[in-house]
Amino acid sequence: MSSAGTEPKICKQCNQAIQGGVLTAMGASWHTDHFCCNECKTPITETKFRTNDNFPYCTPCYTKLFAPKCFACDEHIMDKCVQAMGANWHEDHFVCNDCKSKLIGTQFMDLGGVPHCQKCYVAKHADRCKGCSKPIADKAIVALDAKWHQMCFRCSRCSKPIMKDQSFQVDAGKPHCVKC
Ligand SMILES: [Zn+2]
Ligand SMILES: [Zn+2]
Ligand SMILES: [Zn+2]
Ligand SMILES: [Zn+2]
Ligand SMILES: [Zn+2]
Ligand SMILES: [Zn+2]
Repeated sequence: MSSAGTEPKICKQCNQAIQGGVLTAMGASWHTDHFCCNECKTPITETKFRTNDNFPYCTPCYTKLFAPKCFACDEHIMDKCVQAMGANWHEDHFVCNDCKSKLIGTQFMDLGGVPHCQKCYVAKHADRCKGCSKPIADKAIVALDAKWHQMCFRCSRCSKPIMKDQSFQVDAGKPHCVKC
């Protein structure tokens, strides 16, 4: 059949020998009119088509079949997909639930499946100090059934901070050093 003695190329789409025009794409040969979306069979005309498992797909089909969905907006993610907290997110949609700041590359907190930036988490949800009622961002002192900033847990008489390993006495719910 082939006068040149070379094997005819096999079309990757229909598995038939290609007589005439050969289209080479994705490391395979195709009938020129068989380089189609593997799903809807529309010829690929996009210069930037999508591929999966070595088959080409038009963008709408690829989106429908393979693109992950954003946990925040439930739309497909065509660009950069952020994987966090066991879900996929648009880069622009992985934001703090309170202040809407982007959380990519930051320390974020998972509050019952809702992402928060460190600042909002501390401001709204961190333990509050019994002494100054401000949130405690780092280690709290636990004493008198409450939490305190290290510097807020003070002697109610001489105002000196009472250290973790220091013993103290309590008078009317307020701590004071043993010698005061
Ligand atoms: Zn073909
Ligand atoms: Zn298609
Ligand atoms: Zn989204
Ligand atoms: Zn925030
Ligand atoms: Zn405090
Ligand atoms: Zn004191």
